[in-house]
Amino acid sequence: MPLHKARISPMDRGFLFGDGVYEVMAKIDGRIRARSLHAQRLRSSLDSIGLETSVEQVFADVDRLTKKVGFSNAKIYIQVTRGPADARDHAFPSTVSPTIFLTVSAFEAVPQTASQAIVRPDIRWRKNHIKSVALLGNVLLMQEARESDAQEVILYRDEYVTEASTSNVFVIRGQKVVTPPLSDLILPGITRHLVIEIAQKLGILVVEDNIRVDSLSEADGIFLSSSTRGLLPIIALNPGGCVGNGELTSIFSALQDAYDERLRCYD
Ligand code: PLP
Repeated sequence: MPLHKARISPMDRGFLFGDGVYEVMAKIDGRIRARSLHAQRLRSSLDSIGLETSVEQVFADVDRLTKKVGFSNAKIYIQVTRGPADARDHAFPSTVSPTIFLTVSAFEAVPQTASQAIVRPDIRWRKNHIKSVALLGNVLLMQEARESDAQEVILYRDEYVTEASTSNVFVIRGQKVVTPPLSDLILPGITRHLVIEIAQKLGILVVEDNIRVDSLSEADGIFLSSSTRGLLPIIALNPGGCVGNGELTSIFSALQDAYDERLRCYD
């Protein structure tokens, strides 16, 4: 239906509590990129919050909607909440009727240009592996970036980098690329997964290891990864100043080219 006709109850638990999960996928040249990885992650997010919904049905609806809308390049948003309840009670209601909200909007995947990031403490909750719609921490952090003329916020907890407010973090050190290991502190990014796969194919060493926040300023390169922004090179940090010599490294360029190729050639 047209967006202005969509209606959601004010008693929806997604609205009242942020009690829901989401996915964002890119459709490129008519195909949803990494569809099965997104479906798996949605399943895992739903399981983590104890919400039973058929992911197969959600994806069948996505297919119906994308077909109807017709863009061959699109951004697809999926949100599943625990639905409306009679009373505002924190605990789950006895009967649950999930609200499923899907949108498809026009989108072009364009290679990202050199950007700046602020570096801030990770103020979010402790279950960031769940793609929760409760994003107030991320919202406040991203707003701070915007007000500082930066495009992203790199986050750290207990002196170690976790991720960025809407992306995963990679650090280039010499011929090696380092990214924080998967844990409940970060989202298992689909693009992160693809970058590791691509790097292996290119013979570039990727190590999943903790990154001290105070080591960022010594990096030869830093880049961030997400489904909608692809690989975003960071050339300046605040605080921290210039990254490397302020130019893109050959490792980054090789990964970005291979990633763009991967986007267009595979599901
Ligand atoms: N980390 C956070 C907090 C995110 O919000 C996102 C994407 O929205 C990512 C990482 C990157 O995930 P993906 O590559 O699956 O888009």
